[in-house]
Amino acid sequence: MKMPSSEYYISEIARMKAEKNAIILAHYYQTGDIQDIADFVGDSLALSQKAASNNADIILFAGVKFMAETAKILAPGKKVILPDINAGCSLADSCKPVDFRKFKDNNPGRTVVSYVNTSVEIKALSDIICTSSNAVQIVESLPLDEKIIFAPDRNLGNFVLNKTGRDIVVWNGTCHVHEEFSLEAILKLKKENPEAKIIVHPECELPVRMVADFIGSTSALLKFTQKDTGKSYIVATEVGIIHQMKKENPDKLYFPAPPKDSTCGCSECNFMKLITMEKIYNSLLNEKPEIIINKNILIKAQKPIKRMLEISAKLGI
Ligand code: SF4
Repeated sequence: MKMPSSEYYISEIARMKAEKNAIILAHYYQTGDIQDIADFVGDSLALSQKAASNNADIILFAGVKFMAETAKILAPGKKVILPDINAGCSLADSCKPVDFRKFKDNNPGRTVVSYVNTSVEIKALSDIICTSSNAVQIVESLPLDEKIIFAPDRNLGNFVLNKTGRDIVVWNGTCHVHEEFSLEAILKLKKENPEAKIIVHPECELPVRMVADFIGSTSALLKFTQKDTGKSYIVATEVGIIHQMKKENPDKLYFPAPPKDSTCGCSECNFMKLITMEKIYNSLLNEKPEIIINKNILIKAQKPIKRMLEISAKLGI
């Protein structure tokens, strides 16, 4: 049987969106074609803010499960659908609730700041959520003597610890994309392109962060390439963001930072790339897989996310 063309999917998706009053929220790590059909493209913070404030009846989340769960937590009255329910996250998976409860018990009296890249259960065990766009400011918003647990990303946690000098115990989790960048290969690329600036996500390991010209969240990296007068960049985060960078500044050059294993394609998040145009079409058509969250956990998880959004709004982030 002949597969429908991508034009067919795109026009049918647009028709169903209008018919069902649905919106598509897409993360920067989605493929370019999916970013281009989304109503809104952003990083985790911007997508949470958008999920909390829109008039749609259905949110189709082109991203991974923890993001769709965050949308559901912030908009419990809406139907939230994720085109592939297996779109997980190695970082979120590195922090299991049963282990995290023990970790909390072993570190009593600490405020738990969790990265948004966590399951709904971990959010429910947290005092406040952050994203890589606001992690430093969220920690700085706490009283100076407050003792903190930061979870689950050890690289972002150590970055925040060094920036703020706060008393922070860091959970030992990592993202399989960001920890895979090779310092040697980045330096080799820099040698071949000496004018290129190295721009790095804080989830990357310390040696890679140490050679960075700029460190920031995905959206901060995008803004940097928009405003900076440089002409080329070595980009150490998931390659999907380069689509937006090229759209904004097509004349500049962008080199994806190479991973340690040059054959693995590790600078792509395989979970993010599970979402395809065909799956988006089927998901909108059938209005599933739907994100369903136990009400008690949802209410517990809502509090720390709302706290983050309130602080971010106050700080104008
Ligand atoms: S890039 Fe890393 S942190 Fe982001 S969704 Fe993929 S595995 Fe998770």
